Amino acid sequence: MTNYDYDLFVIGAGSGGVRAARLAALSGAKVAVAEESRVGGTCVVRGCVPKKFMVFASDFRTQFELAKGYGWDVGEPTFDWCAFRDKKDAEIARLSGIYVANLMKAGADLFHGRAVFVDPHTVEVDLREGKKRITAAKILIATGGRPKLPDDVPGTEHAITSDEVFHLPELPKRMLIVGGGYIAVEFACIFHGLGVDVTLAYRGSNLLRGFDEDVRSHLADELRRRGLRVALACRHERIEKREDGILVSHVTDSMVIESEVVMFATGREPHVKGLGLDKAGVTLNDKGAIAVDDFSTTSVPHIWAVGDVTDRMNLTPVAIREAQCFAETVFYDRPMHFTYDAVPTAVFSQPPIGVVGLTEAQARHEYGKVDVYLTRFRPMRTLFAGDETRMLMKLIVDPKTDKVLGCHIVGEEGPETIQLAAIAVKAGLTKAQWDATCALHPTVSEELVTLREKYMPPELAAAE
Ligand code: FAD
Ligand code: NDP
Repeated sequence: MTNYDYDLFVIGAGSGGVRAARLAALSGAKVAVAEESRVGGTCVVRGCVPKKFMVFASDFRTQFELAKGYGWDVGEPTFDWCAFRDKKDAEIARLSGIYVANLMKAGADLFHGRAVFVDPHTVEVDLREGKKRITAAKILIATGGRPKLPDDVPGTEHAITSDEVFHLPELPKRMLIVGGGYIAVEFACIFHGLGVDVTLAYRGSNLLRGFDEDVRSHLADELRRRGLRVALACRHERIEKREDGILVSHVTDSMVIESEVVMFATGREPHVKGLGLDKAGVTLNDKGAIAVDDFSTTSVPHIWAVGDVTDRMNLTPVAIREAQCFAETVFYDRPMHFTYDAVPTAVFSQPPIGVVGLTEAQARHEYGKVDVYLTRFRPMRTLFAGDETRMLMKLIVDPKTDKVLGCHIVGEEGPETIQLAAIAVKAGLTKAQWDATCALHPTVSEELVTLREKYMPPELAAAE
C-alpha cells in the first residue's frame, strides 16, 4: 500500500492518456485520469476522426463526376453542411462516450476538469464542484498539443484554427487557408471538394516540406489540375475585418485576399502552458516540449510524458504506442520503448498520399547511392471516366542490400496501401522479395510488385 490516493494519475484523456490509463488499470493499479475537455482528445474530438468524415463528405464530388463517366445520371448534387455537421457531431459524441465507457470498464476513475501540478506528487483538478487535490505515486502527462498562430500578424483574432473549423455555422463562399503542412493541405482539399472557393496560401516554395520531392511536385500538379488555388511564397502581413464581416488579408506584394473565413494551419505546440511543470520539476527541451528519454521518463523519475506534448512524432498511433510502452515498462515490468523508423503516415488530401520510410533525399544522404523505381500512370477507374488523374508510386532501394528503404504513393487508396507496404519496409524486405510477391490483378497496388525499370531523376541523368 502506498500513501498516495492513486498509483497512477494521468493528465489528459486523449489517444495516449486513455491507452496508458486503461492498460495500467487492467494491471490492477489504482488509476485516475483528468480531462478538461472531452474524452478522446484531439484525434477523436477535433482531429483525425471528424477530419476523415469531412474527407469522405468532400470526396463525393469527385465520385459524382466519375459516376457520370460510367453512365449514371446523378442530377445536380447539393450539399447540406448543417445536416452533415450535426450528424458528425453526434457520431463524435458517441465515440467519446465509448472512450469513457472503456476507461470505466478498466476500472479507472475519471475527473472532468483541468489538472495542474501543485508539487511532484500532487495535482489539483478544477472540478465543477470545486478544486480537488489528488496525490499519486506516478504521474503521466498526456496533454497533447494545440494550434499555434503566428504572433507577428495583426488581426489573427479574426481567424480560426482547426479547433473551430469543425463547427462552422455555415459553409463560407470563400475561404483562405494559411500553411503548407498536413492540416492546411487536407482542409484546403476538403473545402474545395465541398464547393467552397478556397485559396491555400503558403510561405514556402512548395507544399508539404519534409515529404519526398516527387510526392510534393505530383501533389502540386494534381491540385492545380483540380482547380485548387495555391499561392506560394505568400506571407501574411495583416488581417482586417470589414463592417460587412468580410475578412481582408493583406499578403506579399501588396496583394489582398477577401474571404468569409481565414483558417491558420501553421503548426501546433505542446500543451504545457499553466500546467505547473515548475512545481513538479519537469523540464522542457529547446522545442518547448516535455523532455523525455527513450522510455518517456521526464526529468523527474516518477513522472512520464507521452504523445504530442513530447513533440516526437505527432501522430495518433505513435501516441498510443508510446503509452503502451510506458504501461508495459512501468506496470507490467516489461521494459520497452517505441522505435520511430518506418512509421507510415498519410496526408488525406485529394488525391491522398501514403508514405513510409525514407524520402529519396534522406536515403541519398544516409546511404549515398540509391536505386529509385518510379511510375506515374492513369488508374483504370478514373481513366475510363475520362478523368486525367495520375497516380505516383515510388520505391527507394539500397543497392548494396537490396532493401526497400522507402515507399511513396500519391493517389487512390494510397493510405490504405501504405499501411500494408509498411509491414514490408519495417521488416526490411528486399526489392527481390517484393518482386517475388505475385501481383493481384487488376488493382493499382499491383504496380508496387511489378516495378522493374530503375528511374533516374532528370537532373542526375543529365549529370551522368
Ligand atoms: P491529445 O489527443 O491532444 O489529448 C490530450 C488531451 O489532454 C486533450 O483531450 C486535452 O483536452 C487534455 N488536456 C490538456 N491539458 C490538460 C490539463 N491540464 N488537464 C486535463 N486535461 C488536459 N494523427 C494521425 O495519426 N492521423 C490523422 O489523420 C490525424 N489528423 C489530425 C487532424 C487534425 C486537425 C489534428 C489537429 C491532428 C491530427 N492528427 C492526426 C494528430 C493526432 O490527433 C495527435 O497526434 C494525437 O491526438 C495526439 O494524442 P495525445 O494523447 O498526445 O494528445
Ligand atoms: P505542420 O507542421 O505539418 O505544418 C505547419 C505549416 O505551417 C508548415 O507549412 C509551416 O511552414 C507553416 N508555418 C509555420 N509557422 C508559420 C508562420 N509563422 N507563418 C506562416 N506559415 C507558418 O503542422 P500542421 O498544423 O499542419 O499539423 C500539425 C501536426 O499534426 C502534423 O505535423 C502532424 O504531425 C499532425 N497531423 C497529422 C495528420 C495526418 O496524419 N494525416 C493530419 C493533421 C495533422 P514551413 O514548412 O515553411 O515551416
